[in-house]
Amino acid sequence: QHKLDELQFDNRFVQDLPADTSTGPHPRQVEHACYSAVKPATVSRPQLIAYAKEVAALFDLSEADCTTEYFTQIFAGNQLVVGMQPYAMCYGGHQFGHWAGQLGDGRAINLGEVRNKKGERWAMQLKGAGLTPYSRTADGLAVLRSSVREFLCSEAMYHLGVPTTRALSLITTGEQVVRDMFYSGNPQLEKGAVVCRVAPSFIRFGSFEIHAARQNVALLRELVDYTIRTDFPHLGEPGIDTYQAWFKEVCLKTAEMIVHWQRVGFVHGVMNTDNMSILGLTIDYGPYGWLDNYDPDWTPNTTDREQRRYRFGNQPQIAAWNLNQLANAIYPLIEQVKPLQDALTLYSKTFIQSYQNMLNEKLGLQVFEPETDKELQDDLLKILVLTETDMTIFYRKLANISTEIALSDAQLLAELQDAYYQPEQLTEANKTQILKWLRQYIGRVQQDKTDDVRRKEAMNATNPKYVLRNYLAQLAIDKAEQGDNSMVNELLDVLRHPYDEQPEYQAWAEKRPDWARTKAGCSM
Ligand code: AMP
Ligand code: MG
Ligand code: MG
Repeated sequence: QHKLDELQFDNRFVQDLPADTSTGPHPRQVEHACYSAVKPATVSRPQLIAYAKEVAALFDLSEADCTTEYFTQIFAGNQLVVGMQPYAMCYGGHQFGHWAGQLGDGRAINLGEVRNKKGERWAMQLKGAGLTPYSRTADGLAVLRSSVREFLCSEAMYHLGVPTTRALSLITTGEQVVRDMFYSGNPQLEKGAVVCRVAPSFIRFGSFEIHAARQNVALLRELVDYTIRTDFPHLGEPGIDTYQAWFKEVCLKTAEMIVHWQRVGFVHGVMNTDNMSILGLTIDYGPYGWLDNYDPDWTPNTTDREQRRYRFGNQPQIAAWNLNQLANAIYPLIEQVKPLQDALTLYSKTFIQSYQNMLNEKLGLQVFEPETDKELQDDLLKILVLTETDMTIFYRKLANISTEIALSDAQLLAELQDAYYQPEQLTEANKTQILKWLRQYIGRVQQDKTDDVRRKEAMNATNPKYVLRNYLAQLAIDKAEQGDNSMVNELLDVLRHPYDEQPEYQAWAEKRPDWARTKAGCSM
């Protein structure tokens, strides 16, 4: 008997909500239902590439349980344990600002929800496990490249303290998958892979929008009631007041998530409403990227290079826009504009406040003084774009600057040297501007009455030393493609402690090398 056979499934989604009555994965519009029953595809030669022991522990599974052949077969989709009821969810979404109609889980298959020994509920979902009614013209599969990215980034985000879906396992299938690399029009074969994602719920804004768009208010209400009872039970029984309180909470959770993204330099890349979790979790790791040099206009998404809708600096506004679409969708249940409008205003206010507090924390300041700190922050963001400045390194170096010993201009600039990609490109005027800001900052820290040791500790607890730099993920992928999984697992390990100094991995905390000056992430 394997531990996987002892899991306690509690598949409320399939129990409580109406199912699509048609069977088979043929593409179709699924009306009057929240999901379709669907079986994962069988794959020929599944191999475990990596697993996250912390996620296994959520299911009361030990590391030994994860390294069995049985585990690999289950999470490749070849076998089900008793209690699993696989299904794909129906949802719609606004893509790049336009209503796109039904989308749905085109390559994600939920296995079920487990109640663990602590009484928590965790849903398991395979990504890349084959066709569903929502696959449209695509293949329902995922490749090793995108799966490594999803697996590593989910866990990196978790360890950074960012709300996110998790990843239990990364398994290659033994199948070859056809992909058009970087839209070159040049199809290539890539290794197929399946990631098992884990979250309390995978419901998205688009899960509600689809029923609203179809004017199926009864089903919309059923899904909202289900969501409140299952994932927001503290709000009480569903009703108009509860719906309002619920939307307000979704706004607050979303604000919190976006503040974290801005804190660590994460750019999601496809913030369509179908990629917005109702729990405020980062979901759907596709063409995401990490800022190396601080640049609010940067987007990793090559398909968004003109409009740059999903650029780093626009994420807070896009989240508001997406919340607006959710408000429109649930309006029929509330039939009043004001409470929804108030919640949207609350999002903006909360975001601004939390963002300001967050930036101050990055600076090691204990409180936000509007009188001085608004300007200090505005000026900081200006000096970060004078020349290519590595955001992650900048804050770690700033933590080292002494505010207790008087430093010369040259000494101050020397402290930050490593954060600049081309320090020689700094003009005298740039240097003057940076020094002016540093002097302003030092003065402000002195007012704050934190000593340098404590300030550094506080800063290093909020400014990561290690993030999943785009080129590091790519190096791990290149090795994995060659059958060497070591870097995937080493990265996972280093990113478990992103705030700690790990001298043996100093190289992974350095500036992106010149050859890796990518302008793109990758999707598919
Ligand atoms: P995304 O841009 O990843 O959020 O995907 C948008 C929609 O396309 C969702 O409904 C996905 O399930 C679907 N999709 C993306 N890739 C595939 C694929 N390889 N096979 C089937 N559906 C897919
Ligand atoms: Mg998606
Ligand atoms: Mg995707």
